[in-house]
Amino acid sequence: MTDDHDTLPDPVMARPPFPEQFSHLPRYPLLYPHPSPIHPLAALTSHLTSQCASPITLYAKREDHSSPLACAGNKYRKLEYIVPDILSSNPPTTTLVTEGAVQSNHTIQVAAVARKLGLKPLILLGKDTGGGLAAAADKDSYLRAGNVQVTRLLGADVRFLDADGVAAVKSDGSDVPDKVMNQVRKDGGVPYWIPSGASLHPLGGVGYARAAVEIVMQEQELLGSGRFDYVFAACGSGSTVGGLIAGFKLIEKLERERSGSNGTPPRKVIGILNSPTRPCEYHKTRVLDFARKAANLIGLDPEKDISMDDVWLDDRFVGSAYGVLDPEAKQTLGMTAQMEGVILDPVYTTKVMRGMIHYVQHGELASTSSMHTNALFIHTGGQSALGAYADTD
Ligand SMILES: *Cc1c(COP(=O)(O)O)cnc(C)c1O
Repeated sequence: MTDDHDTLPDPVMARPPFPEQFSHLPRYPLLYPHPSPIHPLAALTSHLTSQCASPITLYAKREDHSSPLACAGNKYRKLEYIVPDILSSNPPTTTLVTEGAVQSNHTIQVAAVARKLGLKPLILLGKDTGGGLAAAADKDSYLRAGNVQVTRLLGADVRFLDADGVAAVKSDGSDVPDKVMNQVRKDGGVPYWIPSGASLHPLGGVGYARAAVEIVMQEQELLGSGRFDYVFAACGSGSTVGGLIAGFKLIEKLERERSGSNGTPPRKVIGILNSPTRPCEYHKTRVLDFARKAANLIGLDPEKDISMDDVWLDDRFVGSAYGVLDPEAKQTLGMTAQMEGVILDPVYTTKVMRGMIHYVQHGELASTSSMHTNALFIHTGGQSALGAYADTD
């Protein structure tokens, strides 16, 4: 193991005056050394905004093109800040253990990172997490195809959990799946537990705080003095949205300090929920917690600088269950494919796109900073699950 990756300059963090606390946080690069691309959604923009009173332009940030590793998606960004902790354990970690739904994208990304680090991936998949398996016409295929296939291809030790097993792996992380971890230890291994979606990990939100910095960097190139007034992202386990909130807060605080003025209105992160299982309030509390944890690590005052007013979650697009492609989401999946040639994923990003379209069509995007409103859709990946959704028509 060398420290080479720690000494590479980070182009995103290179610009002063970032708090050293943030730029010096250990990060192991899993992404490409350049920002994930942002491009306009030209056809959707003209289709959706022709009736709008003031101009709106829609853009997409392609987190599905952020990394050379398997099925690039948002978990790699989070894992960049977790890998140094994995590598610092003594005795050295041998096995990464994590959990997810049957068609989890997170578990693929953990498995690929394990392979990159020369470690073993042990993956627990909850059959009863969400409604994907129950809704699948071909259940055998749902348990084999799509992301399960990819996870197996990565050589992961994949174990399915039934309802009892899921209860043992509490999603709040309070009860680490002891049996599995102990089994690894008994076999002479050293397991490292990564909670679902990596959100409950203390470092889980930092990756998307850095993504916010990246977005602002790209904003200047793409929009000049304009900005992304609205940022739409999926809210599952919550640290993508939480991290983005913290990152934009930091940038806007620095902007205010530099200009001495109150500046322009804050960029608004809109988290689109994708599961009706728990009430919106539950997610808001979690996201606030993740945003504050990240804030603390990047040089903000978590209590003073971040409040519930910064957390905007929308549960109108959750559909019938997590992991189920409802008719509205399916329509959005097809429309985005056919208008833009862009493929979304069946679990998260279709619901986000559906939400963003709703905001545009119903005039819910007020122009905040200028006459021209820019909205950014974060494509967090996940298309590799589509193979398991082949029969949902
Ligand atoms: C995990 C995931 C999300 C949700 O991100 P969280 O940080 O867990 O809220 C969104 N989109 C895709 C494709 C994902 O895999």
